Amino acid sequence: MNGKLYIVATPIGNLDDITYRAVKVLNEVDLIAAEDTRHTLKLLNHLKISKPLISYYKETEKVKAKIIIDKIKMGKNIAVVSDAGTPGISDPGEEVIKVAIEEEIEVIPIPGACAAINSLICSGLDTKQFMFVGFLSAKSKEKRDKLNEIKNEQSTLIFYEAPHKIEDTLKCMLEILGDRRISIGREITKIHEEFIRGTISEIIARIEPRGEMVIIVEGAEKSQNDIDRENRNDMTLEEHYKFYENQGLDKKEIIKRIAKDRKVQKNEIYKKFMT
Ligand code: SAM
Repeated sequence: MNGKLYIVATPIGNLDDITYRAVKVLNEVDLIAAEDTRHTLKLLNHLKISKPLISYYKETEKVKAKIIIDKIKMGKNIAVVSDAGTPGISDPGEEVIKVAIEEEIEVIPIPGACAAINSLICSGLDTKQFMFVGFLSAKSKEKRDKLNEIKNEQSTLIFYEAPHKIEDTLKCMLEILGDRRISIGREITKIHEEFIRGTISEIIARIEPRGEMVIIVEGAEKSQNDIDRENRNDMTLEEHYKFYENQGLDKKEIIKRIAKDRKVQKNEIYKKFMT
């Protein structure tokens, strides 16, 4: 019978953030696949857990995923951990999870710390809808292309960033996204934890390049086009038709625009006016 694959979140700074369930699972599995075995060994020593470890890091993910899955097929239960936080979130984990699902192996999350989510919830920005972007490329062109690609995104944006790149990244954001409100979650769960909130330009003026950081950026404002479209969708279909008819448009164009506004097929609108 197949064993199980456990995806275990570990602390991002404060060791007290390990969960009871994570400790139980790490004690019970046959093997722990770790991003950096030396790093995980420190955590296991702290928890007084002794387990065989194998390394599983980004560059070897494909090969190691196969080895892990073969062992699970032989009945072994395996836990995947990264250096800190939730595996698979800008950390190794994704590959072995995909292969496990293909092989119909049970994948069990053991929830815990994640820098992105904890920065978001204390940012004071909108949490209803958000986009996790993770690390931007170190290459200037790719970094700028990505920011241009997402500049109209209305969801709150979440970025991971290294301290030595923070200033350049904030300057690129200011230029491409505009002077939006942001919140930087720094050294979360550690002694010097802080949340630095303000506009991008204010924060560029006072940020010091130290500590682990997550940048939370306010989403783009709705364009006038979006607002107008939403208002049109509050109209009845007849009012919506009249709205475009008054602009002198022909029937074909009116139906096309109504369908676009309401994000439905043209045929659907066409049928409504034929019945
Ligand atoms: N998988 C991890 C998670 O669940 O948060 C993220 C791993 S990623 C390789 C490392 C990045 O996460 C750091 O560069 C930083 O942006 C962010 N990070 C990790 N720990 C943090 C902390 N204690 N405070 C703020 N940001 C942190």
